[in-house]
Amino acid sequence: MESIKHLIRDIPDFPKKGIIFKDITPILGDPAAMARITGAFEQAFSALQPTRIVGIESRGFLFGAVLAGAMNLPFSPVRKPGKLPYEKISVSYSLEYGEGTLEMHTDGVSRGERVVVLDDLLATGGTAAAACQLVEKLGAQVVGLGFVIELGFLDGAKKLAGRKIVSLVKA
Ligand code: AMP
Repeated sequence: MESIKHLIRDIPDFPKKGIIFKDITPILGDPAAMARITGAFEQAFSALQPTRIVGIESRGFLFGAVLAGAMNLPFSPVRKPGKLPYEKISVSYSLEYGEGTLEMHTDGVSRGERVVVLDDLLATGGTAAAACQLVEKLGAQVVGLGFVIELGFLDGAKKLAGRKIVSLVKA
């Protein structure tokens, strides 16, 4: 989706040296671009007949909740540790340095649901794979994953094999 590329800002050395951070805040400031993104995801995923959208903290909430509203589907958050107040499950995964953990409420998805997972960016795929594990631990199926940006050179899609992956901009 070429028409949103100019709304993705490269910030070198953020949050640490050597990382080029993809800043999507200009997209949030452009309602027409948000509508195009939401429409593209909706078109790509509707045939899969999802029953719920799951968004990954924190930028996955922004795109995921808007998509859920547009598709008239429920939304559930996957969050970083210590943020969710109710009964929850956790999954830990490897980061470039150290380990990360993600959590989801036990009633975040129901057994047998067909879930689409949303985040702003796919890098190594570790975060999205952990979100899939949470959904699957609760007995639901991840039928698709949507990203506004995919850093193709990191091969993150390999970690998500077997599900439909929709990336709107490849960088
Ligand atoms: P990964 O688990 O390596 O696929 O990393 C994906 C997660 O980290 C997503 O939630 C992204 O928001 C964030 N992320 C990773 N790399 C970047 C980047 N270069 N710019 C912005 N966000 C990033």
